[in-house]
Amino acid sequence: MDPGVMSYSKINTYKGCPFSYFLGYGLGVIVPDNPALALGSMLHTHAKRFWDINYKSVDKFVGAFRGMYLQRVFGKLKNHQPVAFKYKDEPWIRLKQGEKMIELFYRQNIRNKEREKRPILLEKQVRAPFRGFRVLGKLDRVDELKARKKGPKKIIIDYKSDKIVPVDELEANFVYSSQFVIYRIIHKHEFKENADVYVWYLRIGRMFLIKPKPNDKNCLEKLLIEVTDDIKKDKFPMFKGFHCKSVCEYFKPICKHIKNSDKCILELERMIRKGKLKVSKNKWKKYLERKKLIFHPVSHQLL
Ligand code: SF4
Repeated sequence: MDPGVMSYSKINTYKGCPFSYFLGYGLGVIVPDNPALALGSMLHTHAKRFWDINYKSVDKFVGAFRGMYLQRVFGKLKNHQPVAFKYKDEPWIRLKQGEKMIELFYRQNIRNKEREKRPILLEKQVRAPFRGFRVLGKLDRVDELKARKKGPKKIIIDYKSDKIVPVDELEANFVYSSQFVIYRIIHKHEFKENADVYVWYLRIGRMFLIKPKPNDKNCLEKLLIEVTDDIKKDKFPMFKGFHCKSVCEYFKPICKHIKNSDKCILELERMIRKGKLKVSKNKWKKYLERKKLIFHPVSHQLL
């Protein structure tokens, strides 16, 4: 399969479970949305609206968020999948969490908005070349700090609504993430200058600087070589484990019914043909065209 433009999300999905990469990027399987991801996406949308729309008060801002959330969760919108909540009260618990985060966001940003100190970029996808690859990332926000004496004048801010938040900068920097390396690369491509990366944890309203490491770019290159090579060779084995049931939206409709990894692609095709599984029409067409030429994507044997 052609890996195309690579993003953090593609790398992360493939590293997490190659089979889920195949389902998502190869077939475009349509499943209900993950609740945490759906809330995160609504928070991003509303944080952008904060700068675009003149809300009269914090209550109006939070109220607008509530309206959007209820519409998205219970409104059966055309271009959105339903959200796969795991228990009865989850929609209301997530709403409460979202309201708290968005209220805190308002209070922390309103002074800057009143002083017309706006971000210079919001929610923009940027592509950039990188050592023979093309990488893609979405910058949540870029601020310009003209008065800053040390370091770059621009900062990239990445919003996170994660439940687990680091206690300090040291902990925030503990794990290497290709996401922030890609952010630096695409920012440099867009603005022709360097930027610092900060992660803004919406639950606690705190930002932590993510420090670049000396080997960052080499690690990213290694990762890209490894992942794209396997994708090109159609290596999509299942990574079954405890995580499947709790975090993966493909478990219930697909993987729960498939025991043998070698036979799963045939089972999958049967489910799609019988209409038990919705997929992207374009991707399915491409898959069938490729299937005539390629190896079995899971067992690496000829179909
Ligand atoms: S349920 Fe498990 S094996 Fe299936 S796609 Fe998800 S992570 Fe992979």
